[in-house]
Amino acid sequence: MTATAETHKFEAEVAQVLHLVTHSLYSHKEIFLRELISNASDACDKLRFEALGNPELLSGASELRIDISVDKDARTLTIRDNGIGMTRDEVVANIGTIASSGTRKYLEALSAEKKADAKLIGQFGVGFYSAFVVADKVTLTTRKAGEDAATGVRWESAGTGEYTLETLDIAERGTLVTLHLKADEDEFLHAWQLRSLVARYSDHIGFPIRMPVDRADENRDGKPTDEWEVINQASALWTRPKSELSDEEYQNFYKHISHDFNDALAWTHNRVEGNQNFTSLLYIPAKSPFDFMGGGRDERKGLKLYVKRVFIMDAAEQLLPAYLRFVRGVVDSDDLPLNVSREILQQNRNLEKLKAACTKRVLDLLDKLAKDEPEKFATFWKEFGQVVKEGVAEDFANKERIAKLLRFASTHTGSAAQTVSLDDYIGRMKAGQDDIYFLTADGYAAAKGSPQLEALKAHGIEVLLLVDRIDEWLSNYLTEYAGKKLRNVAKGDLDLSKFGGANEEKRKEAEKAAEGVVKKLKALLGERVRDVRVSARLTDSPSVLVLDEHDMSPAMQRLLKQAGHDIPEAKPVLEINPMHALVKRLESESDDARAADLGLLLLEQAQILEGAQLDDPAAYVRRVNALLVNGG
Ligand code: ADP
Ligand code: MG
Repeated sequence: MTATAETHKFEAEVAQVLHLVTHSLYSHKEIFLRELISNASDACDKLRFEALGNPELLSGASELRIDISVDKDARTLTIRDNGIGMTRDEVVANIGTIASSGTRKYLEALSAEKKADAKLIGQFGVGFYSAFVVADKVTLTTRKAGEDAATGVRWESAGTGEYTLETLDIAERGTLVTLHLKADEDEFLHAWQLRSLVARYSDHIGFPIRMPVDRADENRDGKPTDEWEVINQASALWTRPKSELSDEEYQNFYKHISHDFNDALAWTHNRVEGNQNFTSLLYIPAKSPFDFMGGGRDERKGLKLYVKRVFIMDAAEQLLPAYLRFVRGVVDSDDLPLNVSREILQQNRNLEKLKAACTKRVLDLLDKLAKDEPEKFATFWKEFGQVVKEGVAEDFANKERIAKLLRFASTHTGSAAQTVSLDDYIGRMKAGQDDIYFLTADGYAAAKGSPQLEALKAHGIEVLLLVDRIDEWLSNYLTEYAGKKLRNVAKGDLDLSKFGGANEEKRKEAEKAAEGVVKKLKALLGERVRDVRVSARLTDSPSVLVLDEHDMSPAMQRLLKQAGHDIPEAKPVLEINPMHALVKRLESESDDARAADLGLLLLEQAQILEGAQLDDPAAYVRRVNALLVNGG
């Protein structure tokens, strides 16, 4: 039975992606083959999984496989699988009426990169559309496993705004995708070319990929034969011994599971036998996927759980903590039940152990990278360092190991690059120094120029500069490392007297001498500050704000306020530098109004340096101008 074809329209966003795909020039057109084979392989994985509970589904052809063939006269290339197949509704939902969240993200990525690139397409779950890079018409016929022959569907589109759908009889389950190649895409009609692409991109697919036996040399009449031969390894790569695997094979497998176009940065491949038996192959990408920092936490794909070689599900959340969500790879367990569902998995006692083991593997790999390949580690840190920082709070058991991996900017390097580890810092600590000093700020420039650093600099004491958004939060969790306290230099009493020197003597004297001006300022500022005192922090600037040891930092207060939280105001302490001319001037100012202006300025300047927005910037400007014009 063949009903007449119905014509449907794509949703606007799908049409937009197709338009981009069909009208752009690509550097790696052949990606389409990898994507279509990957879909065929997913379909075989899904069927094998479903068949665990319902072996009937495999009746007919129990060997799952993927066949590739060409018809030179018709100029078509066909990829066929005998996997799960699709119902009519599934075709509509999966292949294109309805825009997936990936469609939107792909469009965003393209406009962000200012160019369309096929390399990206698979990452967004819209890999099927890459067929239109080389084809001006694509026909997909499919029939779901376990359904009647009469439920077959044919979908066809020229990649413009619409497609046709038709119901027809299809005897065998599975999906057939036929590409009607564009005029200048003849290279994909050559069997040798296709074989070499399969060898390059899809060798490790766990199902046999077959092509017709090529007898062109012996049998010059060129008649097609019915014989097929397997053209890939067709064994799960991770089950093979490490010694047999080349870097290239590892990299190709990485690209297959991650849809990343770049090589992986590093990987770790292990077989564990004992209480638990499992194999893990875990990769660290060299580049974060598009929008990784934005959307990353909930959508976690790319870590696949197999049980005895059978693909079970994407299980990144179950197998690794969130702060390692950049990891891609495969975990194949011999101990989990094959019929494991997401719910069962969460309750399985083995799972926690599996997760701990995978976490340890990744941390081991990162340790090794930091030690043996610092350049690679630097790349890693740039891409994923911010995510790793979450681990300090998230993974108590590994806190010390994670802290060891952290890298920061520092006053020692004089560069914004985050390269200094806590161990580096400890190695450079001054005699008598017990604490690790750090400063948090809204950015490197603000940190580097902060008056909080003046006295520490004068004493030659290194300060770590924590300038990422997450650092403020990180510093609440990372209070100690290797038996040393981490100290925020903007908080509490900064006592540097043990680092001694003439400076300290002078300061004591100045403190005494400044009693008058401190009193004056306290009276002028009243409720605005908790206290006014002489600073041990300053050498050049007139004033600075400090907090008590347990106060929330102003940056944190601002963040929480922005997020709508109602938080009690923590009043700062104003510290002054009595040696500064501005402070001296306040001391001797006899005009009350002018003294009030000077007092406020000392507070406001400190607020600005700390990164705050002034309550009344206009009044501030007026005060500064009045002093500039009259007060010289
Ligand atoms: P992704 O594979 O990342 O989900 P694709 O655009 O490649 O994105 O494919 C979209 C969806 O279409 C797949 O998730 C799957 O449901 C369906 N699909 C594509 N090819 C096949 C196939 N050969 N057999 C069964 N379903 C398929
Ligand atoms: Mg796909």
